[in-house]
Amino acid sequence: MSQRPIYFDCHSTTPVDQRVVNAMLPYFTEHFGNPSSKSHIYGWEAEAAVKKARETIAAAINATPEEIIFTSGATEANNLAIKGVAEAYFSKGQHIITIATEHNAVIDPCNYLKTLGFEITFLPVQKDGIINLKDLEKAFRDDTILVSVMAANNEIGVLQPLAEIGAMCREWSSKTEHDIIFHSDSAQAIGKIPLDVQGMNIDLMSLTAHKVYGPKGIGALYVRRRNPRVTLASQLHGGGQERGIRSGTLYTPQIVGFGKAVEIALQTQATENTFITQLRESLWERLSQVEGIHLNGHPTQRLPGNLNVSIEGVDGAALLLGLQPVMAVSSGAACSSASSSPSHVLTALGDSEKLAYASVRFGIGRFNTLEEINRVAEHFISTVQSLRKQAVMV
Ligand SMILES: *Cc1c(COP(=O)(O)O)cnc(C)c1O
Repeated sequence: MSQRPIYFDCHSTTPVDQRVVNAMLPYFTEHFGNPSSKSHIYGWEAEAAVKKARETIAAAINATPEEIIFTSGATEANNLAIKGVAEAYFSKGQHIITIATEHNAVIDPCNYLKTLGFEITFLPVQKDGIINLKDLEKAFRDDTILVSVMAANNEIGVLQPLAEIGAMCREWSSKTEHDIIFHSDSAQAIGKIPLDVQGMNIDLMSLTAHKVYGPKGIGALYVRRRNPRVTLASQLHGGGQERGIRSGTLYTPQIVGFGKAVEIALQTQATENTFITQLRESLWERLSQVEGIHLNGHPTQRLPGNLNVSIEGVDGAALLLGLQPVMAVSSGAACSSASSSPSHVLTALGDSEKLAYASVRFGIGRFNTLEEINRVAEHFISTVQSLRKQAVMV
């Protein structure tokens, strides 16, 4: 078994594109300066590189460069956004609205704020994973300060209607004495679907590099500066970098890599999405032949590379074990084995029967091929068949 399994777990992380690595390398050695050093060329070079990346990332979401705050990733960006707003807008109200299928990097900061006295509304989702806008309408209160809704889900790939939510937040803001800040965790969306903070009325947006063929450990928070100007309480105090919102020496090579990854993604987005959608469709065409298989999440309102399925009558842990030699995928953790609890995302889809099924998430990416899809489909189908045969014999 010398061949490694085919990587199909691109929602977890992606390989770094070689072009990104090449762009980063000089900033570890030759151009190693601190971008905050204003008195010599080492600092200036690093500062210029950071400026370029900042401009690329800002342009990708229709923001201005001053509105990009670099962080260590989307987890930190979410924490800064949610805790930063909670602290800064505390006197306006203590009510936050978010949704049940958020990443833990949103859910956990919200639950933490609950212990400090904030009230959190977790909106349910419909069977297809998308929120019902009427539920949001009903959830708004006079003391609501923040609405946090992800762009694309990391398990089921479902896209939320950001533009509609943004418009509703603006409308409700006009009825209250204060602004309602709209935050979106867009870690899975950047470089894959169009994002426009102006058109969508988004005030805070969390981004990360490593889901889009950039390095791990770097991300950003977009913070709106006009209409309205968002105030955030800093969560990291120190040297005053990033306009005092996020202190710490900027990680130049990672920032350069993030910029390059976004640049490539924007150039290739249209053709790449077509290609990856074709791969996913042909995988689903094959897998849907399996008896008792179900697609989780909206069939089309989803990320191009996402396929999340539940399978009746097989043990989740056994299935994953059987798949492992050929493919690297994730379990939706809706397992019949008692040890693992079902994923909160699948639970939120409200199909309680399905929770007893095995579930698998495929994350297809830039470097996958049709030949790999065929091998994966074949092995998946034969694994399910042999597990079912065993179950019958027992
Ligand atoms: C991966 C991911 C995160 C965490 O991002 P890091 O950069 O790894 O901290 C947050 N939210 C979503 C939706 C993600 O997919």
